[in-house]
Formats: sequence, C-alpha cells, structure tokens
Amino acid sequence: MTADNSFIADQLSLLSKLMDIHGENSFKAKAYSSAAFTIDKLPQQLSEISAEKFASIKGIGDSVAKKIIEIFERGEIIVLSELIQKTPPGIMQMLNVKGIGPKKITVIWKEMGIESIGELLYACNENRLTLYKGFGEKTQKSIQESIEYFLNNIGSYLYAQIEEFANKFDAALKHSFSEYSFLITGIFRRHLETIDRLEWVTNVPAAALQAYLLENNFVTERLETEESVFQGKEENILLHFYHAETERLHHKLFTTSCSEEFLNEWNKRSLFNNKAEYISEDEIFENAKLQFIPAYLRETSFTIEKASAHSLPKVIEAKDITTIIHSHSKWSDGNNTIEEMAKAAIAKDLQYLVISDHSKSAFYANGLTEERLKAQHAEIEELNDKLKPFKIFKSIESDILNDGSLDYSDEILVSFDIIIASIHSNLKMTEEKAMMRLLNAIKNPFTSILGHCTGRLLLSRAGYPVDHKKIIDTCAAHNVVIELNAHPRRLDIDWRFLDYCLEKKVLISIDPDAHSVSAFDHVKYGVLAAQKAGITASQNLSSYPLSTFEAFLKEQHAKRTR
Ligand SMILES: [Zn+2]
Ligand SMILES: [Zn+2]
Repeated sequence: MTADNSFIADQLSLLSKLMDIHGENSFKAKAYSSAAFTIDKLPQQLSEISAEKFASIKGIGDSVAKKIIEIFERGEIIVLSELIQKTPPGIMQMLNVKGIGPKKITVIWKEMGIESIGELLYACNENRLTLYKGFGEKTQKSIQESIEYFLNNIGSYLYAQIEEFANKFDAALKHSFSEYSFLITGIFRRHLETIDRLEWVTNVPAAALQAYLLENNFVTERLETEESVFQGKEENILLHFYHAETERLHHKLFTTSCSEEFLNEWNKRSLFNNKAEYISEDEIFENAKLQFIPAYLRETSFTIEKASAHSLPKVIEAKDITTIIHSHSKWSDGNNTIEEMAKAAIAKDLQYLVISDHSKSAFYANGLTEERLKAQHAEIEELNDKLKPFKIFKSIESDILNDGSLDYSDEILVSFDIIIASIHSNLKMTEEKAMMRLLNAIKNPFTSILGHCTGRLLLSRAGYPVDHKKIIDTCAAHNVVIELNAHPRRLDIDWRFLDYCLEKKVLISIDPDAHSVSAFDHVKYGVLAAQKAGITASQNLSSYPLSTFEAFLKEQHAKRTR
C-alpha cells in the first residue's frame, strides 16, 4: 500500500507534537507541523511525483522530504517511532482529545505526573489543574468537557467504518455455532448513521458464547441470563447479545430492531399475539394485518399507520441511481481526471456525470478561477464529443460567501449547466448568520442544488445551527433541490428531515461528493439514509434518466432569466 497525503500529514503532525512534548528543537517541530498542513491540502498525491519535485514544493523542503521518503521506503519515520516508544500510551491517547495541545500535555505529564486520560479527568474533578501555571478554571473546565466528549464517543463508528467488521463477525459467529441461530439486530440492522454497539439475538447458551468471545480476545463486561455485553479490544465496540429461547427468537428480533417510538405505537395498538411465538418476522406482520415493514423503516409511529393502510412506498435502491452528481476532478481537489471519472461512470452503467469542482474562493482546494473554468469547459466539450452518447454536465460547487452570494459573476454562472451551492468557510456562526447565508443562496436564481446544508461531520464536528424547516420551505418556494450528501461522514441533510421535504415536494439529490472514482460507491450510504425516510426513486434527482434530467435543467434555466 502506498501512503497517501493524509497519512503522511498525520505522521508529520504527530512527529511535531511529540517533539514538543519531549522538549526537542521547537523550530524543527514547527516546520513539520506546517509541512503537514501544506501536504494535507495538496491537490496531488506525493506518491505520484518524484522526490526532487516534492522537496521543491513551498513548505516542504529537504528535511521534510527525507522523512516522506522514509515513509515510502520503510512505512515509518524512524525518529517518530523512537519518540512513540518513549511516550506512555495514555499520553499518546491524550493527543486525540480536542483542546489539549502538546504544551499542556507536557505540564500534565512532566509536572503533574499524570499519564492517562482517566487520571486527568479525576484531577479535573479534584480541581487540581488550577494549581499549575497556564491552567485557569476555564481551561480546566474545557479540558474536563473535552475528555467527557472523547470518552462518550469512544467506541462509536460511522456505519461505513464498522460495516465490514460487523458482517465478518456475524459470519464467524454463524460458522462457529452452526447448530444455533444468530440474528443481527439493533441500530446496525436499522442502518443508523453512527453505531456504538453491535447487537444479536441468539439461542446459544450464555456460557458457551462467553467462552468463545474470551478466546477471541473480547472482554466481558456483564453476563446475565437475558443479555450479555462484551467489549471488543481492537474494534473498541460493545457487542450485545440478547438470549432467547428458540421459539421466541423472532419476537425478540422484532422488539430489538425498532425505535422506541415505533415499539410504543405497536404496543399501544396491541399488535402482538398473546403467545408471542413466531417463526419469522413476516408472521408477526401477517398476524398484525400489516404490510411488512423492513427494520430500516421502523422509526416513526406514522409508518405503522401507512403499513396498516398498505401504502408503504417502494423505496429507492442503489440500482435506481443513474448518475453521479457532485464530483470533484483533478481540476480542483479530486484524485482523478474528468476522463477517468467519465469512464468509471460508463463502466458502472451510469447514464451521465455531473462534474462540480470547487469555485475560486476555495483556494485551499485549488478552486477554479474564471480562466481555468474556460479551459475545463473546453475539455468537457471535447470529452462529450469523444465519449458520445455518454454526457458530462458542467457544474460547480460554488462557495456560499459570507453574505450568501455565489462565487462568480452572472456572466460566468450562466455558463454552467447546473450549480450546487455549499458553505465551506467561516463555519463557526450563529443560526441567524447561517440562515442569512443559506436563504440568500437558495433564493439566487442560479442555485439548483443546496449542498451539505449543515456542514456536519459525524462523530467529529456538529454542523452550524440551522432551521431545517425554513430551509426546506425556501427551497420549495424557489424550486431548489436539497442534497443528501452521501459521504458516510456527512449524510447531510439528516434523513430525519426528509419527510418534511416530501411534504413540501422538495426533490432531494443523493450525491457522493466524490473526490475519486472509488468514492462513487459512497452513493450506497446515501441510499441507505434515504430509505430510512421512505424516499422513492422519483423523489431523487440522481435517479433521473438522462432525458428527465435535461428537462429538469431546462426548467432550472428558465428560473435564471425570470
Ligand atoms: Zn462541499
Ligand atoms: Zn464537494
């Protein structure tokens, strides 16, 4: 495996922090951290260019270049490995807690004698930090909050991060206990966007299961007759098993794969048989005289009403997707050329491709100036000739500027087939400010799609505050599509607001925001999220056939001249 830029940047940044903690040359440490910053933003992979060439990149230089070569040749930076050896594991972990930088860690370790996060939290509770220089009451409180946040989120994964482990482990359990049943359930079965535990219903005797898990390096936290809970070591995740007699497996499977709201409504309507013994979930629904509700839809009480009227929608599936909307090429911060992306789309049987690189204000992402845009459009026209009948559409992911305007003059905006408007800068803002920017952008007649509307990054950054209803109402009034950004860390707009989009007849667009050909596959996670809200193919722009998409564009262009 060749190391990519983000790995190299992480290694250099860690090196810089550890040098600071160990009191080594601070001048050098600073050079490594600024090189890390530069490398993280480079449009090109270092592994694809020669050593002489990357040594000459501004902000890298010879000594950093040597470290990068070590990574390529040996898979590690030698001095970094030595520093890690000299650092207690608890101190290494502290580096992952936001708001505790190397300077503070040095005092915590060397002066306070604290070597783990647990000890540090205890010291905060005891009010001991304030005895040290540089640690006021405010700092102590913010450290305490950061640690609590860190500990709360430990063991939480994006659905996409834990999916492979969950499926492999499920298969391993079934293989090892072939004469028993293991049914995966809970939030994983419901396809929630973040997962902090994996759950199964099983009829395996608790003691046998425990022995198996201990053998496989899991730690038992609790073992009861009804439920056993284990803690994984490598995948730091809780495994949760519900024990049930064979006749009650499906009853248990059902009750553990609905939301609380859904289950309450189910019980309120007394939909269970008294005996509660079922041979399948199908039988549960048949008995209740309801249409079958898949686990991913068992969220709101309203779904039960629809199922009793036999009017559940035929939800969108991955095979309904006809195009990739929102994709970045090498022209801005993507990894592939437009031609490579188009060919990959053709290979996936997609009907067309929408290229939307970053706009000029996104200088950190190599956003396109007016001049480079002209050249890009010429390239797209050439490719459209060459790849006929496949079609590439000219788009841009325009930054929404501070006052809510788009990033180019109208003369330039008119040259795009379709415009996605997104916020990328000054994310720390009040709801009032965020809404002013968003609503102005939605009202702009050139905007067709509102990109990732809250800017959230699951498990790492809450989005800026917004009023979802007002956004959806305004999109409805101005015929703007709302993106469901399919990157598994975004999934923004949150699926919980999609029923209001449907009510207001606002189209959504499941877009991978792909920065490489392989990221086309992220569409899948957007589809999973859309399914949870019962979205159908006709309610999603990226499942429009080419001719319908072209008609949609015509309608959008009419908006521009009105
Ligand atoms: Zn974006
Ligand atoms: Zn993007």
